[in-house]
This record gives sequence, structure tokens and C-alpha cells, in this order.
Amino acid sequence: MKDAIFLDNAATTRTDSQVLQAMEPWLSEKFGSPATLYALGSEAKQAIEEARQRLADLIGADAKEVYFTSGATESNNWAIKGTADALEPRGRHIITNEAEHHSILMPCRFLEKKGWDITYLPVDGDGLVDPEAVGGAIRDDTVLVTMVHGNHEIGTIQPIDEIGAVTREKKVPLHVNAAQSVGHIPVDVQVMDCDLLSLSAHKFYGPKGVGALYIRRGARITPLLHGGGQERKRRPGTHNVPGIVGLGKAAELARGRLEKEMERLTGLRDYIIDSMEKNMEDIRLNGHRSRRLPNNVNFSIEGIEGESIMLSLSYPTSADTKPIYVSTGSACVSGTLEPSHILLSLGIPVELAHGSVRISLSQDNTREDADNAVKALAEVVERLRSMSPVYKRGSKQCASGSKSDGCDCEAAS
Ligand SMILES: *Cc1c(COP(=O)(O)O)cnc(C)c1O
Repeated sequence: MKDAIFLDNAATTRTDSQVLQAMEPWLSEKFGSPATLYALGSEAKQAIEEARQRLADLIGADAKEVYFTSGATESNNWAIKGTADALEPRGRHIITNEAEHHSILMPCRFLEKKGWDITYLPVDGDGLVDPEAVGGAIRDDTVLVTMVHGNHEIGTIQPIDEIGAVTREKKVPLHVNAAQSVGHIPVDVQVMDCDLLSLSAHKFYGPKGVGALYIRRGARITPLLHGGGQERKRRPGTHNVPGIVGLGKAAELARGRLEKEMERLTGLRDYIIDSMEKNMEDIRLNGHRSRRLPNNVNFSIEGIEGESIMLSLSYPTSADTKPIYVSTGSACVSGTLEPSHILLSLGIPVELAHGSVRISLSQDNTREDADNAVKALAEVVERLRSMSPVYKRGSKQCASGSKSDGCDCEAAS
């Protein structure tokens, strides 16, 4: 594992060593519960409040508006179900989009089964939502608009500021799922003008199983969990002290590194995109070319399955090749080879959606990793295509037909 090249950082990141260091005492000698009054407890309480302040500083919030949770899945569920419960007397309509994460779509489906009306706005070929369409979809009974900031699969960054201006004008609460963007690009709840915002520590070099929901002062939301008085009576349960301290440290580090790291990763991202386009034919970039997360590369590769590519890269045949970990939008989930709903929402053909590969970068990745990955990928693609019954060197075959460029394989075959 030490020698593997990890390029699946949209799934999770390695915990930063400084974060680990900050967490360690809270897993050993400082084991007190923050709910207790003796010194061991009040120390923990103080550490939690420091972490809350650090996180608030990263997202432009007041510390009193930050609530710790178990991660973005919980925060998203809380934002949607909690708002739905609190505002049900006003109406039973929620607006989202087709290319959302399952932790948004599934709570929406849950509400749909209870009779709620959910509008799933379409995205364009780059994965963007039209802010005007958001305005057009808002009705008198709309109680929430929920929009992802950075898409975890294709990297497209939504025009959240413009969407926020629309929802503010129409006086509808806005929830932003910022799990992929916090710590990677500027996220400011004031600029976005959002009421709720979800984030997750393990997506930006913090530990797994901890996150937060930003709740603007005055926003109406029912708790998801009921129990003790923690988190101002809104999120009960003994605090995950080491996790929260780790999240606070990750936020502090991110704040210091953001601008530089954003620039470096954007350069590395574009270098990979350029190299792939130079070294491989019949591939298509998924997601917006420039309005995209600095660490996201996603290509559809004609004629082969994304899963075959992913497995070939992670189990290299030669002993002196490092394993490379990437992901695919067409993983064989529960036995059915269904391409992801996000790729399909872009309107690309099912065959192309099957051949998708996502490379997602972290602070640990270098230019050398990028070179190794592109080289290995080109070799794997070449080998798999040579065995593929469906892949024909499309452009070359078509070029012998009537069209000189912009070939149409469907017409040719
Ligand atoms: C990772 C992720 C989630 C889920 O976060 P967890 O903390 O792992 O529950 C939700 N939405 C997006 C966009 C993500 O990338």
C-alpha cells in the first residue's frame, strides 16, 4: 500500500499527520466526556469549542451556527428531513437536481413516499444547473432548495452564489452540500447566502465519521435525533471528541493552505487532462472543463468498462508497476452494471457512461504520480481495447467514410 498511488481522494483522503497528532491525546489520556463538569470534561468541552471556531472561520460562519454531526450523509439527511418537518405547514415541495449525491436523493425519495413533491431539475451537458430554472421551479409551497456545490463524480461546481441570490429573493431556504468543496475551494456561507451547509472532515484530510451542518441563525429545522442536550439541544449524543478536534485541525490547515493548494492542484488537474487527451483517442472529458473542482478529472473512455480499467490499474500485472487507485462511475453495484445517474444526467450515451474513470487528487499527489497514472492508464486502455469486441477505432474507421471530421460512428456502422 505504501507504494500505491492513491487517486481516489473524492471518496476519502488520508488523514493529515498534523490532524492525527492533534487528535491523539483525545483518544488516550484526555478521554473525558465534554458533558461532565470535572476538569477532564471541561477540557474536552473547550477543545470542541475551539474546533467549532476554527471550522466557523473556514466557512464564514458564526461558531454558534456550527453543529457537529457524524458526516455529510447525516448533515444532508438532517437538512432535508429536518427542514421538511419544521416547514411542512407551509408546503410540501422541495427542489433539487438530477445529479445529486445519494445522501441527497435518498432523503428526497423518502419524503416522496410520504406524499411530498420533489422537483429534480435537469443539468446541462457539463453538469450545471441553470439558476433561472431554480427560480422558475419555486412555488408557493416550496420549503427548501437543496443544491450540491462541487459534484463528487464529475467535479462540476454549481453557480451557488447565483442560486443563493434567487432563493433569497424568493424567500426559500437554501441548503448546500459542500462535502467536496470545503477545504478545497473558497466556501463562504455569507457569499452563498445559504441557510444550511453540509460538510465532511474526511474529504479534506480530516478523520472519517465526523462532519458538520451549518445552520443559519433563525433557520427552522427539527432535530433528526432526540436525546440529551448536546449541540444546543439540536444534535444529541456524546461528542466524538477526537473526531471533532481533528475536524477543527483540518479546517485550520485548510485555511492556511487553500489558495496555494488550489492553484497547484488545478495545474496538476489540467496537466492530466491535457496529457490524457494527447495520449489517448476516443475519450471524452465529463464535467465542466474549467468550472470544476481543482482535484477532479473524469473521462469516458470508449469501448471498455470503467470497472475493468479500475481493476487493471489496482492489480498491475508486472511486479515493478505500482498499483494505482482510481474510481469509476460504473462500478458493479449489487450485481447490476448500472452506470451512475450522474453520468447519465449529462446526456451521454449509456455505452460511454460505462467507460468512465475518475481520478481525484490530494495534497499528497505529485507531477510524478500524474505521469505514472497517465502512462499506466494509456497502456491499460490500449490493452483492454485490443481485446474489446465493441471497440473499433471509431474516428479512423469513420474518417474513411463520407465525413472528414466530426465522424458519426452510428451512421458508419
Ligand atoms: C462524501 C460525500 C458525501 C457523504 O459524506 P460522508 O461524510 O462520507 O457521509 C455526501 N455528499 C458528497 C458530495 C460527498 O462527496
